[in-house]
Amino acid sequence: MRVAIVGAGIAGLACADRLHETGHNITLFDKARGAGGRMSTRRVTTPSGHMAYDHGATHFTARSLEFRSLVDLWHAQGLVAPWPVAGVHAWVGTPSMNAPIRAQANAHDVWWSSPVTALTRDGQDWWVHIEAVRHGPFEAAVVAIPAEQAAPLLSLHDFDMARAAMSVRSHPCWSAMYLFAKPIVTLPDFIRGVGPISYAVRNSAKPARAPGETWVVQSDWAWSEQHLTRDPARVCDLLLSALGEAGGTAMPEPLHADAHRWLFSQPSGREPELLWNDALRLGACGDWLSHGFVEYAWQSGSALGRAIAR
Ligand SMILES: Cc1cc2nc3c(=O)[nH]c(=O)nc-3n(C[C@H](O)[C@H](O)[C@H](O)COP(=O)(O)OP(=O)(O)OC[C@H]3O[C@@H](n4cnc5c(N)ncnc54)[C@H](O)[C@@H]3O)c2cc1C
Repeated sequence: MRVAIVGAGIAGLACADRLHETGHNITLFDKARGAGGRMSTRRVTTPSGHMAYDHGATHFTARSLEFRSLVDLWHAQGLVAPWPVAGVHAWVGTPSMNAPIRAQANAHDVWWSSPVTALTRDGQDWWVHIEAVRHGPFEAAVVAIPAEQAAPLLSLHDFDMARAAMSVRSHPCWSAMYLFAKPIVTLPDFIRGVGPISYAVRNSAKPARAPGETWVVQSDWAWSEQHLTRDPARVCDLLLSALGEAGGTAMPEPLHADAHRWLFSQPSGREPELLWNDALRLGACGDWLSHGFVEYAWQSGSALGRAIAR
């Protein structure tokens, strides 16, 4: 089958891997310019040179046997490394969080900068709409994007799938990024759940990072909701103060600061691991069909790929 997958995050790529293994022909479409999804890395030019911040998932776990064996393979290829500071099962991409996603994407035909506005069906054929142009035909279509973005694509075709997507609510998260002139020796590398902070991470302390004292500070869901419409500069100020308070230390002026607002960072609400309509050959996968974590997003995509192949 020719299969179109909307979304080249870890779920869409896991689905593509399983389908490719069983001889199907896959094309992925992603609205972003490059690989990562919510495991993205922000690259910026600062007065001290080029810096990279893991401003989405700060780390991920690998507990299940199947995901663990893939992560071990990535480890052997230098794409990930354990980061015990964040927990016994914690891993990070190397030299940046999106490294394993980029490697997975390189193995497939991925169309970047391709925001899909609709999926339509013409007889048995699926067509993927990007701006005013339709691409296809495909014999099956998979939607591997956050629930809120999946709902409109699904609603034209399968009301139950659309309803499942509509019942999920993803939480926002502000992710602030800072570069400092010198190491802040009074802070630990990893802080979890203090005040409005969900995670504060010394990004530069992760394995294989470039020099430069970089930090990523992420606010919890309640704080993020409350400050949803604040401007990024103000968010940077507030989260910098929160970091200082969390560590009981006075924070220096950063050399560079920016903040990214994730509107759909992690979903709450649990549906079955995957959705597949065999009559229409339409499916959905992603963390919203399991739990809002990398490992579960991968499991959902992998399970859908297997279900389609069956
Ligand atoms: C701030 C933050 C912190 C997190 N912390 C952790 C953590 O510590 N540990 C952990 O395990 N997980 C964490 N997560 C969650 C984890 O990143 C996600 O669960 C996982 O990456 C989801 O993968 P996915 O493939 O389902 O979705 P995504 O990674 O979101 O991939 C979906 C892809 O679809 C694309 N897309 C969306 N709409 C369209 C469209 N209309 N057309 C084309 N393409 C489209 C997007 O560009 C994206 O590349 C965090 C997430 C965020 C944002």
